[in-house]
Amino acid sequence: MDEMKKNEPIHIVTPLIPSDILSELCGRPVLLKLDNLQPSGSFKIRGIGNFVQKGVKNGCKHIISSSGGNAGMASAYAARQMGVPSTVYLPSSTPKMMISRLKDEKASVVVHGRNWNEAHEKATEMAGSKDSCYVHPFDHPDVWEGHSTMVTEILEQCNTKPAAIVLSVGGGGLLCGIFQGLHKHGVPDIPVIAMETQGAHALNAALIAGKPVSIGEITSIAQCLGALCVTQGVFELKKGINISSHVISDKDAVEACLRFADDHRIMVQPACGAALAAGYSGVIQKLIADGLLPKEGPVVFIVCGGSAVTLQLLEDWKEKFNL
Ligand SMILES: *Cc1c(COP(=O)(O)O)cnc(C)c1O
Repeated sequence: MDEMKKNEPIHIVTPLIPSDILSELCGRPVLLKLDNLQPSGSFKIRGIGNFVQKGVKNGCKHIISSSGGNAGMASAYAARQMGVPSTVYLPSSTPKMMISRLKDEKASVVVHGRNWNEAHEKATEMAGSKDSCYVHPFDHPDVWEGHSTMVTEILEQCNTKPAAIVLSVGGGGLLCGIFQGLHKHGVPDIPVIAMETQGAHALNAALIAGKPVSIGEITSIAQCLGALCVTQGVFELKKGINISSHVISDKDAVEACLRFADDHRIMVQPACGAALAAGYSGVIQKLIADGLLPKEGPVVFIVCGGSAVTLQLLEDWKEKFNL
């Protein structure tokens, strides 16, 4: 790759489009921020791309990550764009499909440990060696800074100030980026609606406790929301921002994926369905009815995307939840 290109962002500017069906359902104009269209399949490339780009400029010669999901995909893609090799440490529970997708992205794959924590420990140990950088899936300021570009784009693309931004939360990296973007652009009064599934509700638990706490075990099918504990950054960056946290069932998340596929001909994974469920299962409608959203302006849904979905998986979940 030529030197010029190495200075350009690795992510792309994604479209913000109206959704007639969700607008009808919510009783308020709904706009969809289509980050499912990012290279590597999710918004993760914004933050991880930023981290990898900075790292390589500062002498990093090898990118290491520990995710069999979208963070691994983004780090492999970003490393390839920057012309350095990448290695992904994965637990044995990682689906074969994701391993082959990572290999297609030219990453070296090392299966280590039974769960993410064990793979993560090995990855951080290996990154201790010279010239290697470990990119954390959600807990780093460069990752948040990259994610904050989403707010810049939304504000540029929106004619009127959004009434709210709806997103799903795993470890809180995206949330931190949104907080940072709202502060940076002087609009901390835009409320944030944070969606999680039961069994991956680390943000909800943290907000109740007043600090990050472990939820002990991940039981949700929304694997990409499966962080035991959110980053401390959430508490540092949320100051002054009105955040409402909602926990829905896996069934509601899957139903949102299925309805969204029909309504918009776009396939997303349940981690993203969780955000869409704010419209499909009545969360937004209730906030409006209770007078908790500004009276004007569109509701922006972040369609965070994800590579971990196939037609077959959607069919399997459909059957599992009797939908
Ligand atoms: C990673 C991810 C999330 C959660 O993001 P965090 O930064 O961990 O909160 C949500 N949806 C998808 C599709 C993801 O890949």
